[in-house]
This record gives sequence, structure tokens and C-alpha cells, in this order.
Amino acid sequence: MTSLSEKGGGTFSGIKLLLCENPLPPIDEAITAAQTEIARSNYYTEPYSAPLRQLISRQIGAPEHLIHINAGSELILRQLFDRFGQQVHLLTPTYVLFPEIARRHTEQRLLPERDFAFDLGDLIIPDGTTLAVIVNPNNPNGGIFDMAPLPDLLRRHPQTRFLVDEAFIGLAGQSVAHLVPEFPNLLVTRTLSKAHSLAGFRVGYGIFPEAIADDLNSHNDAYPLARPSQAAAIATLQHEDQIHARAARLQAWTEALAAELRALGVRTYPTHTYFFLADFAPHDAAELAERLRSRDILIKPLNDPALGPGFMRITTALPEDNRRFVDTLREVLAHA
Ligand code: PMP
Repeated sequence: MTSLSEKGGGTFSGIKLLLCENPLPPIDEAITAAQTEIARSNYYTEPYSAPLRQLISRQIGAPEHLIHINAGSELILRQLFDRFGQQVHLLTPTYVLFPEIARRHTEQRLLPERDFAFDLGDLIIPDGTTLAVIVNPNNPNGGIFDMAPLPDLLRRHPQTRFLVDEAFIGLAGQSVAHLVPEFPNLLVTRTLSKAHSLAGFRVGYGIFPEAIADDLNSHNDAYPLARPSQAAAIATLQHEDQIHARAARLQAWTEALAAELRALGVRTYPTHTYFFLADFAPHDAAELAERLRSRDILIKPLNDPALGPGFMRITTALPEDNRRFVDTLREVLAHA
């Protein structure tokens, strides 16, 4: 038995390829900075994360008052959907949270026969859409979109807010955060949970038009980010060179893992991140996941009826864990 829920957390000691977590720990500078702040935790934290906000503002070239920081980007996304999620347009498959929290949604599919690539020029926004969501790079396939058509879409659909979820932008892709000051209908969210290895510290942020940033920031006076979280975030963002170097290592491990799966006869799809989609057909992904779970390997069947039962999202672990995963998988497939 493990104490790990689907939502994460817990003390599971096997191999966890489940939640799109970065297998690398926080960088040393982040750990040291957080430890220093633990010893100062008799003092309240910065309620509006001002130093972190200044640093982010300088790095992305968007004014400070357009930035909203909170305890993880999921919380921010939920707030945005509460406000604007009446009629949502999604590119599916997408981050599982979105269909769950949209009041109603329409969708356009990314297709396996096109390697899940999609031209944003082909986006069709139905009348009445309040929120159109683009996840770049996309979860669960790890592909990136060419964002060149976005300014035109923003102009042609002034009544629709476009949310670009850049949770994985530290790994690949072109950010559109710098466009926010120009477009009143563009919302960009980011997190330090992924490329920056700080998922457990819970640091997310958004770059929003002024009225939305003001509204969200005015609800932030309850000190949402603990002192160690703010310190770890600042220390990590001050060392983006290390984060870039680590992203390249993660991508190399991901490519090597995908090649191992192909050697086992599994179909894999292109990615720019540290996770990818694999089709285990004729095997059933949920059944394989169950067998692997009994061997302390947690993996994510996609469970998307439009894609068939063989699809799985695979996140790279450290190379030695990938080796154990592939060896176990080989055994499981041989007896499936
Ligand atoms: N966006 C996407 C696309 C994600 O995959 C995730 C988490 N897996 C999040 C947002 C939320 O991340 P967090 O709450 O850790 O910032």
C-alpha cells in the first residue's frame, strides 16, 4: 500500500511518473535560501510577495502591477475559471483540471495522426465563448504551439478572454507574457512547479490585464506564500542558467526513455518537455498501470475515450529509475 493519492503528496518511495513532477530536486541555492527563512518564520511573510514580483517583472518585461502571485497556479486557474469560465473553449487532450472546472465547454481535438500538432490559425471560437484556453507547451503531450496567430485571434475576438497556461514554458516554447500590456483579453499563467522544481513550495503567478490583476491581488492580504516559498522562488529565478541546463538534461532523459519504449514496440509521440504520450495498444493502459502500481511504479493512463485505451502519459524519472521502469515494463508486457 502507498499513502500517495492521485493528487500527490505522501511519502511514496517507489518510482512516481504520475503528476508531471520534475524528478530533479530544487537547486541548492533554493534549499539554502528556504532554510534561512525557516529560522525567521516567527515573522510574517511579505503579503504581496513584493520582492518576488519585482524580480518576475524585470525578467519577463511586464509591469509589476500586472503580476499576481499565489500559492500555485492551480489556485489562480480556479479563480480565473470562477470569474470567466461560463463558456470555455479547449484544445483537447488538455490539462485534466480544465474540463472539470469549466461550467460548459466546447473543444477542438489535437490528433494522434498529426502527432498532436495544431495550427492556432485553425482555432474556431464559437460565439459566446468567454474563455479560450491554450496550454503551451501542452499537457499531456508536451508539444508546443506556434503562437504567431495569437495577436490576430485576440483582435478578432475582443469578447473572449484567451488564457495561455505557460506552466511548462521553462522547458520549451515561446512565451506571450510580454503581450499582456497590449491586449485587454490576454491572460497568462505560470508556475515554478515544473522546470523550476518547486512544486512542493507552491508558487504560481499570472500576468493579467490591470483590472484582473488588481482584483486578484486585492484578495491576497492573507499572506498566501510562506517565507521559505518566497525565498526559494527568488533564489531559483536568480539562477535561470542552471534551470536551462537542467531542462536540457531532462529532455535528453525523456528522449532516451521514449526510444527504450519504442524498442519494446510502444508507439511514442513527439514532445518538447520532460513527459510524452505513448500508445501501448493493443494493451490496456489502465491495466498496465495497475500491474505497475503493484510493483511500486505509479504511472498515468490517459483515460480519454477519444484516444482509445492504450494511451499513457509518461514523465521521465532520474535515469536509474527510468532503467528500473523499463525493465519492469518489459516483464509486465511479456506476461500481459
Ligand atoms: N497547468 C498545467 C498545464 C499543469 O500541468 C499543472 C500541474 N500539473 C498546473 C497548471 C498546476 O500547477 P501548480 O498548481 O503546481 O502551479
